[in-house]
Amino acid sequence: MSKENFLKDYHKKRDFDRTAEPFGGDRRKSDGRIFVVQKHDASRLHYDFRIEIDGVLKSWAVPKGPSLNAKEKRLAVATEDHPIEYADFEGVIPEDQYGGGTVMVWDAGTYRNLKQEQDSKGKTMEQAYKDGEITIWLDGKKLKGGFALVRTGKRGSDKWLLIKMNDEKADGRRNPVSTQPKSVLSGRTLKQITKQESEEDRNSKS
Ligand code: MN
Repeated sequence: MSKENFLKDYHKKRDFDRTAEPFGGDRRKSDGRIFVVQKHDASRLHYDFRIEIDGVLKSWAVPKGPSLNAKEKRLAVATEDHPIEYADFEGVIPEDQYGGGTVMVWDAGTYRNLKQEQDSKGKTMEQAYKDGEITIWLDGKKLKGGFALVRTGKRGSDKWLLIKMNDEKADGRRNPVSTQPKSVLSGRTLKQITKQESEEDRNSKS
């Protein structure tokens, strides 16, 4: 295969005979710039924050989930690129597989690159990611407004911070992580996804 596998790390970690996660096809772009936040009940509950850049979902694991309080900085650990198709994935990853546990589409929508809009030099998302300085405007169901993702260490460090920008959508009293716990895709709770998907699994095997 001459084509560079742009999902090498993603593929290496997973056995696609065992997990229902998408394999991912060609590097592709969706119609708009999409973002998704997946609540992931793995060995430790966290929120996977993903934004479309250059045909893949750049990804971060955010242990506490996003905050709407502009004074709170949330640790975001960069993880492997995921295929665009992953944005619709909701289900149960088998316990013996990488990231085993239930995945919910907690929020989804589109984003705009604020660096391109505000900066006369018009920095692309690809460059902003490389520089470790991203500012975007989210149009999700739960998350709206400006957010910054800032790399804290040197280039190549996986530690970033996710921070709500101080704009009219910042609201320290709202805490969607606790007050809006259900899937924006199916309206289900984590428990319901776990229960229904395991029942389907049993039915398909019997
Ligand atoms: Mn995860």
